[in-house]
Amino acid sequence: MKVRATAPGRVNLIGEHTDYNEGFVLPAAIDYAVTVEAVARKERSVTARSANFPGSETFSLESLERRDGSEKIRWVDYLKGVCWAFGEAGYRLRGAQLAISSSVPVGSGLSSSAALEVAVAAALAGLSGLKLERRELAMLCWRAENEYIGVRCGVMDQFAAALSRAGHAMLLDCRSLEYEYIPLPLERCRLLIVDSRVPRALAVSEYNRRREECEAAVEQLPGLLERPLRSLRDLSAKELVWVEGQLPDPLGRRSRYIVEENERVKRAAAALRSGRLEEYGRLMGLSHTGLRDLYEVSSPELDEIVEAATAVPGVLGARMTGAGFGGCAIVLLEREAESQVRQRLGEAFACRRWREPSFYPTFAAAGLTLSGGGF
Ligand code: ADP
Ligand code: MG
Repeated sequence: MKVRATAPGRVNLIGEHTDYNEGFVLPAAIDYAVTVEAVARKERSVTARSANFPGSETFSLESLERRDGSEKIRWVDYLKGVCWAFGEAGYRLRGAQLAISSSVPVGSGLSSSAALEVAVAAALAGLSGLKLERRELAMLCWRAENEYIGVRCGVMDQFAAALSRAGHAMLLDCRSLEYEYIPLPLERCRLLIVDSRVPRALAVSEYNRRREECEAAVEQLPGLLERPLRSLRDLSAKELVWVEGQLPDPLGRRSRYIVEENERVKRAAAALRSGRLEEYGRLMGLSHTGLRDLYEVSSPELDEIVEAATAVPGVLGARMTGAGFGGCAIVLLEREAESQVRQRLGEAFACRRWREPSFYPTFAAAGLTLSGGGF
């Protein structure tokens, strides 16, 4: 028996750092994906090869222990993590031989890890005759990344890889995990992902620090507001005006960014739903400014991409995307403007002696697809 599963990477259109504040995000799947071809085997073990990494890996499904968190993460750990999560959820997987290939850039913040997890999970579930809802599959992969790999990420990446719909973004409420498909009117436009190719060296430590700052604000707010509060998502714009100055710096600025960004996500979804791409483009700019000045997670390269791209006629908006400190930005542009944007950004980076950026043009792609044994 043979199964083939393909799961895409994703880009977040707006709603950055809102996920761990139980707020809103708006990801879309991209035209770059991980494909896993799986063949069943008798033994309860998995052998895998990836066209993007050297060597072949084999592990048993019988005794998958949690990994030792101090060891370096290897690509096979993502596969083990997924298998471990199936076991934790009470499912029994069949052994398999996996061939992995991918067009998702690795480590650029386009979520190659979630695409890999979701494609592997779907292929193994398909081979094993398990009938899972896609949402459950996404949660299982999320658990693998958080508890097995040890990366504290929100559910957005796995939800986007498993559940995206072509031509649509996904408005996801990170508290209730309810989601809604928002049509993306990209007839004359497209998204251009620009990878700054700056290693996200600060990303982990600063990401954790932002999380702690948000938690610290949530601890102090009930005293100021005289009401309980679970996360910054619960802070209203009106209350913000009152408490912002009373919180110690930078907690006031961090809180303002989160409150405003959540509002922007809802506005962007409404704008896209009614075909107002220009309005979404404007919100992209405001989101970037907030990330740069209030949340302080941008980088000189990301700022340059946004500034230089926005100056090109036919560009509707641009913003950094992902956790920041390197990684990617997205530019919303009319198709005719793409070559000029590429040229301008290439020149701007060369001028500063930065490495040439990489470009990934995309529309909103489909989520997971499965052929062979399906569910
Ligand atoms: P991102 O998800 O932003 O691309 P991560 O650091 O979260 O970056 O995940 C990248 C890791 O995922 C890689 O180092 C590798 O271990 C694994 N990975 C991604 N794509 C593949 C692939 N095609 N084959 C094997 N492993 C992959
Ligand atoms: Mg990842």
